Amino acid sequence: MKPELLLDTCSKHFNAGQLKGVLKLGDVVIPGDKHLPKFSETEFILDIDRMLDYMEEEDLEGLKILMSLFHYAPKRLISFILKLSEYHSSFPSFIATLLRMLKLGLKGIIFTLYYSGLEDQEKYGKQILNTIGWDAQTPSYQPKGNTMTENVKLTPSQISKFSKDASKQIRELTIEQRLKYVTALKKLILREKEIIIERIQDDTKKSKSDALVSEIFGVLDHLSFLEKETKKALADEKIKTPIALLGKKSRIYYEPLGTILIISPWNYPFYQAIVPIMAAFVSGNASIYKPSEFTPLTGLVEDLMKRIGMNQHWVQVVYGDGQIGSQLIDQRPDKIFFTGSVATGKKIMQQAASQLIPVELELGGKDPSIVFADANIKRAASGVVWGALTNCGQSCTSVERVYVQDTCVDEFTAEVKSIVDEIKQSRDYDGDSDFGGMTTSNQVAIVKNHLDDAISKGATLLCGHQWDGKNEMIPALVLTNVTEEMLIAHEETFGPIIPIMGFNDENEVISRANNSPYGLSASVWSHDLKRCDRVARALEVGNVSINNVMLTEGNHYLPFGGQKNSGIGRYKGVHGLRSFCNMKSILIDSDSKKIEANWFPYSKKKYQLFSKMTDGAFSGGLINFLKFAIFGTLTEGLSQKRRSQLK
Ligand code: NAD
Repeated sequence: MKPELLLDTCSKHFNAGQLKGVLKLGDVVIPGDKHLPKFSETEFILDIDRMLDYMEEEDLEGLKILMSLFHYAPKRLISFILKLSEYHSSFPSFIATLLRMLKLGLKGIIFTLYYSGLEDQEKYGKQILNTIGWDAQTPSYQPKGNTMTENVKLTPSQISKFSKDASKQIRELTIEQRLKYVTALKKLILREKEIIIERIQDDTKKSKSDALVSEIFGVLDHLSFLEKETKKALADEKIKTPIALLGKKSRIYYEPLGTILIISPWNYPFYQAIVPIMAAFVSGNASIYKPSEFTPLTGLVEDLMKRIGMNQHWVQVVYGDGQIGSQLIDQRPDKIFFTGSVATGKKIMQQAASQLIPVELELGGKDPSIVFADANIKRAASGVVWGALTNCGQSCTSVERVYVQDTCVDEFTAEVKSIVDEIKQSRDYDGDSDFGGMTTSNQVAIVKNHLDDAISKGATLLCGHQWDGKNEMIPALVLTNVTEEMLIAHEETFGPIIPIMGFNDENEVISRANNSPYGLSASVWSHDLKRCDRVARALEVGNVSINNVMLTEGNHYLPFGGQKNSGIGRYKGVHGLRSFCNMKSILIDSDSKKIEANWFPYSKKKYQLFSKMTDGAFSGGLINFLKFAIFGTLTEGLSQKRRSQLK
C-alpha cells in the first residue's frame, strides 16, 4: 500500500498537499540507507493524527502553513532551512528561538512518526537519532564558556578566588533579580527537556520515564518552589522581644554565606546538580559544583547557566574524582553541601573539621517499608515495587527492607510477584519502560555480593533468576525467607531488590526497623492512620511517607535529610533555603542617653534590686510580675548613676 494513495483521507487536520509537505520534509530528515527505508517509503505518515490531535490550535495552524509551503518548495530549500536552524545560536535571540523551535519541532515530528512506526526500536533508535543529527553519542550540549576545559587549566585556588569574587556580585542582586534566573532556567529546561533526558540517559542508563519523573519533573518542581517561596523565606524576620528588653526590636536577617562547594553522586546527576546550585544561588551564594566522575553530564550544567545569562563564575563546574573534590575542600569554601556515600561523607567531614567548614551531608539509607495486614495490599504492593525499583533501585530512599505483617505476607508476596512479572526494563527511547540499568559496574558487583550472601544464608529468590550476575540490566530481584543476619537486610544494596520479611506486631517491627545504622526514610502502610502516626513518630529517620512511598521528597516544601549515618542537616523547603544562609540575629535599640541596667557600675544595692527583679521576672503570677516591674524600674533608676553618685 503506497501512503500517497490514502493521503486524501488519512488526516482530519491536514489536506493531501500538506501531507505531501510532511513527506518531503521526512525524506530530507530521514533519506534512508541500507538498513532503514526513507521516510516516504514507509506508511508512518498514516499515524500523523495521533500527534496532531494533541497540538495547540495555534501551533497546528502554523504547521499547516509551513507544510503547504514545503509541498511546493524544492527539497534543497527545506534542507537549507534545517541547516540554518542548526546555527540558531549565531542569530539574534528572537530569530534564534524561532530557528531552534523549527529545528526541534520539525525534526521532532518526523522522528516521532518514524520511530514509533519502527518495529525494532531498540536496534535502530540510536541510528535514527544520528541520521537526523541528534547524535545519541555526542552530547547536544558541547562544553563551552566556563567549562571543564577551562577549569582543568585553573588551579583549585584560582577557582576558589573566582568563586569568592562572584559571591560578592551575587550578594548585591536583589532576590527578585536572582529569581529571574530561576524562571529563565525553568523555561529553558521545559523547552529542552527531551534533549536533557537523552543526556541523562546516556550517562546513567536509566529509562526515559525515570529521567523525566525523578530528574526533570523534580527539578522543575523545585524551581517553582523557589519562585514562589524564596522571597518570603529569606525576608527579614521580626522576632519577639521579651519584656525585660522593653523598647527594643529583634530581627533575623538571612544573608548569603559566600561560596558553596557542592559535591554530588551519580544516581540523579541532573537533579543533584540543579537543586542545590539554584537553592544556593537564590540565597545569594556562588557555587562550585563537582559532579560524580561517573555521570558528569559534561558541559550541560554550565551551558544552561550561560544561556540563562549567568555571569561566568557564578556557578563553576569542576570535573574529576574524589581527589579533586578534596583539593576544593582545602580552599575553604563557606559551606560544603555533600550528597553521596557514608564512607565519603565521613572523610569529607574529617577534612572539613580541620578548617571548621560547615558541612551538610546527605548520605545513604536502608529504608524500611512496613506493611500492616489492614492496608490495601494491592496498593501497598504496587507502591513498594515502585519504591524499590525506580531508577533501578539506585536512590538513597529506595525501599530496601520490606516488613510485612505475618497474616498477609503470602498475599502481599503474590501481589508483588504478579506486578514484577509484568515489568518492562530497558534504556528506552519512548518512555515505554519501567526502569533501566545500573549506572556503574562497582554497584553491580555489590548487588551480586548481597544476592549471593542472601541465597547462601537461606533466602529464596522468587523473581530475577534470569540475571547472570554481571549484566548491568539487573532485573527485579524479589527475595523471601530473608533474615536479619543477611547483608541484604542491613547494608545499603542500591540495586533493584525487594527483600520481604514477616513481622508479628507493631512494637516488634518498630524495633527491627530502627535496628539499623541508617535513618533516612521509611514508609508505613495501614488503614489505621493513628497507628501509622504512632509508627512514624517512633521511627528513627528523617522522613516518613504514610500510605505512600518516597513521597516526602516529592514535596519541595518539606525539608529533606537523614538521621544517624544517613546524614546531617536538611535541604529543600524553607529550612533548606535558610541552610545556605548566615542567620544573622539583630537587636535594635534607639540612640538615647539611657544607660542599661546590666551595664557597669555594679554595686551591692544594685545587686539586691536586680536579684528581686529576677525573682519577680521568673516566679510567675501577677504579683511577681508587678514586683519585676517595680524592682526593674528601681534598678533602672540606679543604673543612670556613675559609681561616684551611688553612695
Ligand atoms: P560517593 O560517596 O562515592 O561519591 C559522591 C561524590 O563524592 C562524587 O562526586 C565523588 O567524586 C566525591 N568524592 C569521593 N571521595 C571524595 C573525597 N575524599 N573528597 C571530596 N569528594 C569526594 O557516592 P556515589 O557512589 O557517587 O553515590 C551513591 C551514594 O549516594 C549512595 O550511598 C546513596 O545513598 C547516596 N545518596 C544520598 C542521597 C541523599 O539525599 N541522602 C541522594 C543521592 C545519593
